[in-house]
Amino acid sequence: MIDAFRSYLPVDVHFGCGALSELPDLLSSIGSDAMVLVCDRFFADFGAELQKKTPAIAAVFSDVEPNPQLSGVETVVQLLKATGATAVAAIGGGSAIDTAKFAAACAFSDRTPAEHFDGAPFPKAHAAIIAVPTTAGTGSEVTGVSVISRGSEKKTTHNPAFYPTACIVDPELTFTVPAKTTLMTGLDAFTHAIEAFWSVNHTPVTDLFAVEALKAIVPHLEASYKTGDKDARVAMAYGSLMAGLAFSTAKTAACHACSYPLSSYHHLPHGEACAFTLDSFIRLNADDRLEELAWTLGFESCDELANEIARLKREGGLRTRLADLDGNADIDRLAKESNAHMLMRNNPVQFTDEALRAMFAALE
Ligand code: NAD
Repeated sequence: MIDAFRSYLPVDVHFGCGALSELPDLLSSIGSDAMVLVCDRFFADFGAELQKKTPAIAAVFSDVEPNPQLSGVETVVQLLKATGATAVAAIGGGSAIDTAKFAAACAFSDRTPAEHFDGAPFPKAHAAIIAVPTTAGTGSEVTGVSVISRGSEKKTTHNPAFYPTACIVDPELTFTVPAKTTLMTGLDAFTHAIEAFWSVNHTPVTDLFAVEALKAIVPHLEASYKTGDKDARVAMAYGSLMAGLAFSTAKTAACHACSYPLSSYHHLPHGEACAFTLDSFIRLNADDRLEELAWTLGFESCDELANEIARLKREGGLRTRLADLDGNADIDRLAKESNAHMLMRNNPVQFTDEALRAMFAALE
């Protein structure tokens, strides 16, 4: 018997090589006379050119930092209010898209972005969002999630207003991503897919997206970063989108819960932080369903899949041991804060602080 479930996938998705050419039409189709463009630094020149050709773009913000700060959101909200803009377009990785999403939800609010960061409810009215991802990893273009930091406090906020109206996923935009970032973002997409699959919130619909994502990612992740092979990069952009559609409903779990203190205290980029515990949790979460998934993906067991992730991390030069981290790792704090994170409740296995401590200690 199939259990009851809900599925909400509200984003108009445009996928394909060359799909960026649809951006001018898409921007005019949302019927906004004034919009703000949030642009990754790498695309700053592209953003400036786009503004020249698009009268509706009233302002551009291209000072987005990785692990984006609330101060960036505050600047975009000021631009939205000053120009009377009713839409935000974002071109960049998850950092640009999340900045745009949070700002869009604050556009017509009487409260400050900081108050919303601290939990004040968002008003119903919000600016429309168009998202154009340039990394293959976060899936932020299809999720109702925004991840923003205030200093070292990194926080995920869920809000239906964060769903973009439309997104353009043009794999060609990812061709310039440096090798190591390609590996890290690719592992982020892998983690989204497998965590959506094992999440306690998984549904038949999210399972379809998760397995489809993993079938695209597993055979192409290595080539996408090692040789920059274009077919592999296209497959990764597709896999990242599918993974986003999977975790948008199912949510992520233990690896993401642990990624927060790892990024906050040890400054790991998001994908590397998720991957840090990925092979450990594949082993700890292994059950019949996960073993079958590993087999579907061409591995004999979860152990073999976990070994493959460990190999990719090691050979790609990612940090795999606590000794590799910036600063001294406080295992007690890592275990406690990871376990207290709300995403840990989505994990199929619930751990004691002591069990997580042992997991981190095994990485010493
Ligand atoms: P990013 O946006 O921080 O970009 C990483 C680096 O890649 C930056 O230096 C950027 O300038 C560069 N870059 C981006 N596109 C490029 C391109 N095409 N060519 C060359 N360089 C390029 O990285 P990300 O991994 O995409 O996003 C990470 C952020 O997204 C984190 O804050 C993470 O927490 C968040 N996130 C959000 C969601 C969500 O659903 N909202 C999901 C996962 C992660």
